[in-house]
Amino acid sequence: MNSPVIEVKSLWKTYGSTEAVKGIDLRVGSGEVFALLGPNGAGKSTTVEILEGHRTRDSGEVSVLGHDPARAEQRLRERIGIVLQRSGVEPYLTVEESVEMFRNYYPSPSPLDEVLEVTGLTELRRTRVRNLSGGQQRRLDVAIGLAGNPDLLFLDEPTTGFDPAARRNAWDMIRNLKALGKTVFLTTHYLDEAEQLSDRVAIIVRGEIARAGTTSEMTALGGTHISFRLARGGESLPPPFAGTLQPDGRYQLRSSAVTDDLHGLTTWARHMNCELIDLRVARRSLEDIYLELVGRESGAEA
Ligand code: ADP
Ligand code: MG
Repeated sequence: MNSPVIEVKSLWKTYGSTEAVKGIDLRVGSGEVFALLGPNGAGKSTTVEILEGHRTRDSGEVSVLGHDPARAEQRLRERIGIVLQRSGVEPYLTVEESVEMFRNYYPSPSPLDEVLEVTGLTELRRTRVRNLSGGQQRRLDVAIGLAGNPDLLFLDEPTTGFDPAARRNAWDMIRNLKALGKTVFLTTHYLDEAEQLSDRVAIIVRGEIARAGTTSEMTALGGTHISFRLARGGESLPPPFAGTLQPDGRYQLRSSAVTDDLHGLTTWARHMNCELIDLRVARRSLEDIYLELVGRESGAEA
């Protein structure tokens, strides 16, 4: 990794008896989109707010753009974009007036047109804030976070509660931010969002990092699933497939020797004159791995 923009070592945070973050380590490289993925209550917002300098930590080392955010230095504040849940924009201002107002606070703001373009607000520049949809207002919040031309942007659950079209717009926006060279630290409980957008992912569960790596590393670790159905009994299936019948009626093997296993399977099927119905060979998705880590009951869809 190139020189890290964010480096966290052994970060701890408790609220009374709640241990929200339990000794996590993180590294985020320059220009990366990094996703902190985890279910509700896992400790995502606590982590983000500590990185932003909005929350104190109990212990651990934290470096953001070479600064300790706990010191709340102006020099750091000018280089990070913080997107508040509700930025308290005046509803009677237009989109461009709102962004202008925030641009005026900074010594070297982002060009107005660029901010509007990246956030997909160019067409809406003369629309009053009160007339924006929910998704558009959240994009305006991001536009305001970009006003100061930050190197690093924090997005805490940027698409929670969005309809599918608004989510796609938000994803386009995040891709635009990456194309501009910004480092983006986002939190999400949506797997597809992490898989689609991020270069690297850390899965946080109950305050601990359960797994971290590039998105492709994470899915590669999980191996490949070979699955199929049979019209009749599979009692004589060759060894790796014997006993792999799942409750949904499919045989499923997690294979680390895909060519050999498939060869054995198809040879058997021809010999038995038996159709392999809906045969699938697929790398395990981030979702499979996530559900394994989080546990299906704990409401990963929450
Ligand atoms: P996430 O953003 O992943 O949903 P949070 O960081 O908000 O998780 O919360 C982690 C845990 O800390 C949860 O159990 C939550 O209830 C608790 N928590 C968060 N903020 C506070 C607070 N201000 N006071 C007490 N407990 C809190
Ligand atoms: Mg949160």
